[in-house]
Amino acid sequence: MIDVRHVTKRFGIGAPAVTALGDVSLVIPEGSFFTLLGPSGCGKTTLLRLIAGFELPSEGEIALDGDPIGHLAPHERPVNTVFQNYALFPHMSVARNIGFGLEMLKRPKSEISTTIEEMLDLVQLGAFASRRVDQLSGGQQQRVALARALAPRPKVLLLDEPLSALDLKLRKGMQSELKRLQHETGITFVFVTHDQGEALAMSDQIAVMSAGAVRQVGTPEQIYTKPQSRFVADFIGDTNIVKADLLGYEGDRALIHFGEGETLAVHAASLSLQPGPVHVAMRPETISILDEGAETALLRGSVIDSTYFGAGSQMRLRLDDGTEVIAQVEHPRAPGSRVGLRCDSAMLHVLED
Ligand code: ADP
Ligand code: MG
Repeated sequence: MIDVRHVTKRFGIGAPAVTALGDVSLVIPEGSFFTLLGPSGCGKTTLLRLIAGFELPSEGEIALDGDPIGHLAPHERPVNTVFQNYALFPHMSVARNIGFGLEMLKRPKSEISTTIEEMLDLVQLGAFASRRVDQLSGGQQQRVALARALAPRPKVLLLDEPLSALDLKLRKGMQSELKRLQHETGITFVFVTHDQGEALAMSDQIAVMSAGAVRQVGTPEQIYTKPQSRFVADFIGDTNIVKADLLGYEGDRALIHFGEGETLAVHAASLSLQPGPVHVAMRPETISILDEGAETALLRGSVIDSTYFGAGSQMRLRLDDGTEVIAQVEHPRAPGSRVGLRCDSAMLHVLED
């Protein structure tokens, strides 16, 4: 288990110091596939470098299995990193690249060659052992980089946007490959990406970050269906964010309505919001389109346009308060049509900002 405790990291001394991370706390469970997700510049790489020991926190500490590791140099930590550019030795063979770290650690020759064999099997590159790395494809080089990082059997593997250099098809393949490697080795993977689809597809847990802070931690399903804030709702997918009125609470449900129509009891990110205007996350696939006059309509608006995407159509609408929303529908209506909208209230979620 990795325990990040109140970690702040500032770069530069004096007035123009950059706060890359501000009071970040995070628990990364042992043996999990854990993803740091956030836009460029939010502090993902900095957090990995702190775990690896390439940087030290300005404040706070990081513990591994309960013991602070601040005094350990990078090579003394049971942690290894796969870098975005792989950092392989192009003229060396695949096998030498994989064994290189073990040679540096002065492990016995027999152990090194056994481990190389195992790693070649693990990443399915047995046939390429003596091939020079610069004669391999990008995807194969990626596997070599993984094998090399896994060879010393670290407790934790840090992966900094390892798939971003691969084209889409290769990336999909490597996503399942990484999942398999994590599962088979049981090593804790801390995976960095700015791609929400990748994070949702691969992770046991996701920490969504912005501007040096962790905004929400949860399973992909929790993050997707119960985003806490507008930032997370917006960043995670094409969620609609719609204005509503909060009337109060009933048990653990918030009571809201959309100006007209019935009062709905829905999930809420917080049960301590003041009654009044709030924002509600409404996923495109949970909206049904009705005739404008339908009594069960919760909202009304007009169709802007629609785009066919194979499994259905994505219809853009402008609600009567001016908010633009997207609905995923089987039968789109013509641009300009007036419609009513309804949404499964079990899928609505009041945001905390
Ligand atoms: P990410 O990996 O999420 O894109 P980084 O962790 O690389 O973000 O950077 C977070 C912030 O810290 C950025 O504003 C970046 O410019 C700044 N930063 C990172 N490393 C340094 C450094 N060595 N010196 C000064 N500023 C840095
Ligand atoms: Mg980065």
